[in-house]
Amino acid sequence: MNPAVFRRSLLKWYDTHKRAMPWRAVSGQTPNPYHVWLSEIMLQQTTVQAVIPYFLKFVKTWPSVEKLAKADQQDVLNAWAGLGYYARARNLHKCAQVIAFERGGVFPEEEKELLKLPGVGPYTAAAIRSIAFNKSANVVDGNVERVMARIYAVNEPLPDSKETLKSHAAFLAAGETKRAGDYAQSLMDLGATICTPTSPKCLLCPVSLYCKANAQGNPETYPVKAEKKPKPVRKGYIYWIENKRGEILLHRRPEKGLLGGMIGFPTSEWTEKKAAHHSAFAQVKSLKKLPNAKVKHVFTHFELHLQGAQTRIHTGRIPEDHFWQRLDDFDGKALPTVFRKFYKLLK
Ligand code: SF4
Repeated sequence: MNPAVFRRSLLKWYDTHKRAMPWRAVSGQTPNPYHVWLSEIMLQQTTVQAVIPYFLKFVKTWPSVEKLAKADQQDVLNAWAGLGYYARARNLHKCAQVIAFERGGVFPEEEKELLKLPGVGPYTAAAIRSIAFNKSANVVDGNVERVMARIYAVNEPLPDSKETLKSHAAFLAAGETKRAGDYAQSLMDLGATICTPTSPKCLLCPVSLYCKANAQGNPETYPVKAEKKPKPVRKGYIYWIENKRGEILLHRRPEKGLLGGMIGFPTSEWTEKKAAHHSAFAQVKSLKKLPNAKVKHVFTHFELHLQGAQTRIHTGRIPEDHFWQRLDDFDGKALPTVFRKFYKLLK
């Protein structure tokens, strides 16, 4: 297949079918690297639909990378609450500070330099280079992997086939100098709207002529995936603890680790064995299980099952990094999803 002809067909389709997204420049406008970077960080492991309201909120609150750099880290974490993968928010803030204070507010264009920024991996570096600066780069996300797996009918299962899929994508992208950014986005849009995981719309596809899976009549069999192992389940208790002033007990989680730096409800340890109460609350007489307050949440590497429990504490002693919050002034918006589920059940 001639890559230039393939790209021409795709770009022609893109000119009339590209998805409107708030971080995308309209035709004729120069993309804003701050918007491109912000959206790419938010889109890591998160869908476009989930990202849009967060992106709009961020650019309204912090309209430039300098403003974001000067923001309080806790405000950034609070604004990020609900989007998941919270290390991204801390790296986002650090990266904004590097750009604003060490690089004069200018994002680098080279992948080598982009890769030095906190929170920017190979995919994000390639995406920023191509979308923000219209420079050639091989931008391969899950959508592009699927399209490549089908066009070349790759029988090797994911994730082992990642390098093969990447090299097919590199072959097709090589030589695109005029519209590198549009080409990268056209492939993503094709994967998101036409070459979808189930029921791909091959009849509407601008590159169906070049597609082996379409010729074979079995596009949905690609990409071939290795069998998934079930995720381990961790268990624990989650506490709704009030005092007589009408306040609830919250916990600021340690900076490092899962949900680092985020606010949550107190919990016991999360364990794959039998759940045991947090030592600080185990002896409290009024502690009772709440049979209907169970929270399930799926993280990347495990599934978490938390059993709700409730009590009142009258003494002033609470564990380190825990604090009282007036219930009247608390709407739960700054909580990560796993804790927001519990808040919704109990409020
Ligand atoms: S022809 Fe079908 S399977 Fe092939 S790239 Fe297009 S939508 Fe995907």
